[in-house]
Amino acid sequence: MSDNHSKTLAIFGGLPVRQKLLPYGRQCIEDDDITAVVDVLRSDWLTTGPKIPEFEQAFAALTGSLEAVAVSSGTAALHAAMYAIDIKPGDEVIVPAITFAATANSVVFQGGRPIFVDVHPDTLLIDPEQVARHISTKTKAIIAVDYAGQPCDYDTLRKLADRYHVKLIADACHSLGGSYKGRPVGQLADLSTFSFHPVKHITTGEGGMISTNDPDLARRMRIFRNHGITSDHRQREQQGSWFYEMVDLGYNYRITDIQCALGSSQLRKLSAWVKRRQEIAQRYNAAFAEVPAVRPLDVRAEVSHAYHLYVVRLDLTRLQVTRGQVFAALRAEGIGVNVHYIPVHLHPFYRKQFGTGPGLCPVAEAAYEQIISLPIFPQMTDADVEDVIRAVRKVVRSFVIEQDRKYFGG
Ligand SMILES: *Cc1c(COP(=O)(O)O)cnc(C)c1O
Repeated sequence: MSDNHSKTLAIFGGLPVRQKLLPYGRQCIEDDDITAVVDVLRSDWLTTGPKIPEFEQAFAALTGSLEAVAVSSGTAALHAAMYAIDIKPGDEVIVPAITFAATANSVVFQGGRPIFVDVHPDTLLIDPEQVARHISTKTKAIIAVDYAGQPCDYDTLRKLADRYHVKLIADACHSLGGSYKGRPVGQLADLSTFSFHPVKHITTGEGGMISTNDPDLARRMRIFRNHGITSDHRQREQQGSWFYEMVDLGYNYRITDIQCALGSSQLRKLSAWVKRRQEIAQRYNAAFAEVPAVRPLDVRAEVSHAYHLYVVRLDLTRLQVTRGQVFAALRAEGIGVNVHYIPVHLHPFYRKQFGTGPGLCPVAEAAYEQIISLPIFPQMTDADVEDVIRAVRKVVRSFVIEQDRKYFGG
């Protein structure tokens, strides 16, 4: 292999760093996970059975919260949270511009209006100053999103929520296993929501959870996930009764025992997996400190970052190309990069329905042009991590402006 052939970017016909694409995230399913699922398939209860409270109790214990309510997805968890705090037409809920669309959608499901606020440029976490500026008499709640896995500034957000008598919700879909000032994610807000989609920290295929210290909110969400009915199939079997009452309009957001058995099995591995994610992030941090034009997001003091994502910002003033071209070049090298996220207020639905658009959240919009998520998941080998670093160096080396070439040694 000639040196030139390996230096030429794969996108221009050179040899790629990897033949097979390394995904940005991926589940880990081991033999004990499979056994746990098969055991449920042979049991009496496929849904509304004993595996659901088992998973909920293990999750509540792990997050140090009184209650945990399991549902069919992270989106269902957000919807249940908006229902539990009684979001209604006319209500406003503050959400950050950079998040997955489901955060804002959950407000709309209940007829509320999401108010998009800007993020802090260094962390891309919701900016409490912007939150304060957007609170109105219609505001009922703030949803903080622990973007990439870093818990938000919950002390400041809590003060704001208390001062204005609004609820504080954590969309903690990225931060399971993280902590803030020694307190675990899951007990940092009135309600915290989680997702068990395969790219998240633990998986149930599809699934979600809400943790809370408020038994009344938990009770409301258990009714909501079951059509608004006060008892479930197993409870009626046990009581030998057919009678039930539908007290409110709910949905079928139940999760199965099959999924919860998998969830309990996965939960036991969470802390080891988060540790591995942090190790990979440290290796990236050290490597990219030497690479011009590549800047990891800042991590604030007093947080333990759960690294669902590893996001870097490209300094486009030092590159001859756009983020899109860097993205395409890395993909061609076999690195499954991604972009999280298109600011939600720029999606056609929100523009059409709520009149949002460019200019509303300038920090988020500028950051969006610069961000790239690199692969990070616990089963990545050290060699995989080095491939990513090698590919980033290779791509940046060929795209940096002339003055920065010296960093690469000729
Ligand atoms: C994954 C995710 C969700 C939605 O979870 P699903 O389980 O896919 O419905 C919501 N918010 C954030 C920030 C997420 O990352």
